Amino acid sequence: MDSDVQKKRVVVAGGGTSGWMAAAAISKLLANQVEVALIESEEIGRIGVGEATIPPLREFNKLLGMDEQHFMRSIHATFKLGIEFVNWGRLGDSYIHSFGVTGKDCWACDFHNFWLSGLKKGFTDEYGAYCLELQAAKAKRMLGSEKYGVHYAYHLDAGLYAEFLKTIALANRTEHIKGKIEKVFTDKTNGFITSLELHDGRRIDGDLFVDCTGFRARLIEGALNTQYEPYGHYLPCDSAVAVQSESFGEPRPYTQAIAHHAGWQWRIPLQHRVGNGFVYCSRFISDDEAQTLLMDNLESSAITEPRMFKYSTGRRIKAWNKNCVAVGLASGFLEPVESTSIHLAMSAILRLLRLFPRGEIKQSHLDEFNQQTKMEMDQVRDFIIMHYKATERDDSAFWRYCKNMEIPESLAHRLKLFRETAAFPIKEKELFKIDSWTQVMLGQRIMPQQYHPIVDLMGEQELGNFFGKIKEGVNQAVVKMPTHQEFIDSYCKSTPM
Ligand SMILES: Cc1cc2nc3c(=O)[nH]c(=O)nc-3n(C[C@H](O)[C@H](O)[C@H](O)COP(=O)(O)OP(=O)(O)OC[C@H]3O[C@@H](n4cnc5c(N)ncnc54)[C@H](O)[C@@H]3O)c2cc1C
Repeated sequence: MDSDVQKKRVVVAGGGTSGWMAAAAISKLLANQVEVALIESEEIGRIGVGEATIPPLREFNKLLGMDEQHFMRSIHATFKLGIEFVNWGRLGDSYIHSFGVTGKDCWACDFHNFWLSGLKKGFTDEYGAYCLELQAAKAKRMLGSEKYGVHYAYHLDAGLYAEFLKTIALANRTEHIKGKIEKVFTDKTNGFITSLELHDGRRIDGDLFVDCTGFRARLIEGALNTQYEPYGHYLPCDSAVAVQSESFGEPRPYTQAIAHHAGWQWRIPLQHRVGNGFVYCSRFISDDEAQTLLMDNLESSAITEPRMFKYSTGRRIKAWNKNCVAVGLASGFLEPVESTSIHLAMSAILRLLRLFPRGEIKQSHLDEFNQQTKMEMDQVRDFIIMHYKATERDDSAFWRYCKNMEIPESLAHRLKLFRETAAFPIKEKELFKIDSWTQVMLGQRIMPQQYHPIVDLMGEQELGNFFGKIKEGVNQAVVKMPTHQEFIDSYCKSTPM
């Protein structure tokens, strides 16, 4: 550290998953360059949901130096290979959106073009037959070995994950302050936050504040009044009810998202219990009915009381405003159908680390951070909206609304392009790649009218050999895998609670 640059004091407000992720990452990765303090209110507590993740979290965990087996054991985690969607396209439909790659692309076009041509020529295998992770999920098998290169994420206990991150943050000298933030003081000249006052009168000073206070957004909104762009017209669900239940058989290596008449239900199997919830639109179902629907659709006995959540989908227009960076629910919420929220918090933290100010905060830092955040949120938002929009269901007012609602121009273009030509717009650094879009679009019954002409250069026999080789590779790898339960038992079995 140059002697001309003063050591920054970073104050993280909030000790949920986002807060402890931020504190762990900043204190470890910027080591002696900054001082980190984290304030959390035990009285307010954490949101306590957020248990399904996506693969990039593994890289984040590695950056923090976590040992995967220890991590999984400590937080009763299971493996996740994707999400099974039930009743989304039509009642009775089921498809899996898995991680990983499907088939093999060529220079001119993606694999689904070959698959579409195969359909015309009488090949009957479903698109997912050519994806290792999807077939492993179906067979309830798992092998987290580098040799197989399986793409996976975790189902984890949200409370224990935050505690696990806390140990890393504390080991890297994060100061842990317990208390409720009651007042936020700002500099009269530039509006920057100078300090936070706790319920007992303690004053916490800082240079940079990371608002991880969840939906309360105590700093970014409560003090800085930063605008929020609502997405409610595109993502109509605004409520959820969640409950935990006993383990039910061997844990599935995938999350379930089961559509009902006014929303959808999640099932997230951990080693010691199942996390369940029902996400719904309060314009189409009452809270009492939603709770009954969830309780009636549990596979095993509930072990907690149901908890309700109300939220407004959307994003903070400036996630970084003055010297305050909002991370996690304080910066926005899409909805949990693709398990993206913890990922977006992680991504915001890494973005902050990449743009971390040396000396004073420059406007260009903020502008770049906010522009990248907007791009990421818009892309993920479109992917999620597609799940609701691309439905053939008309059996309830909710699904009729979704089917007919307006969607962003960017998504409308993408759907039209795929439907008419099987092509995709090229977007840089998209979280959900073409494989994901294709699995979900086909799963929701969007079938392209054409495929790329280059595919016809392959004769029927050649195409058959091409498909056969990929499928054989997938099947051979899956057969060699242990079951999900066997792999957990040998790799990361936790002690029963
Ligand atoms: C129904 C639902 C389901 C979800 N499912 C998923 C999922 O499957 N996958 C996923 O990735 N994400 C999911 N999420 C999102 C996920 O829960 C959050 O992204 C994650 O838990 C991080 O939350 P957070 O830390 O931002 O907020 P919180 O957990 O709410 O933490 C806020 C912290 O701020 C503190 N705080 C608040 N106000 C004050 C104050 N005045 N003074 C001091 N401290 C204060 C609180 O005490 C707490 O420590 C879901 C969310 C909902 C609502």
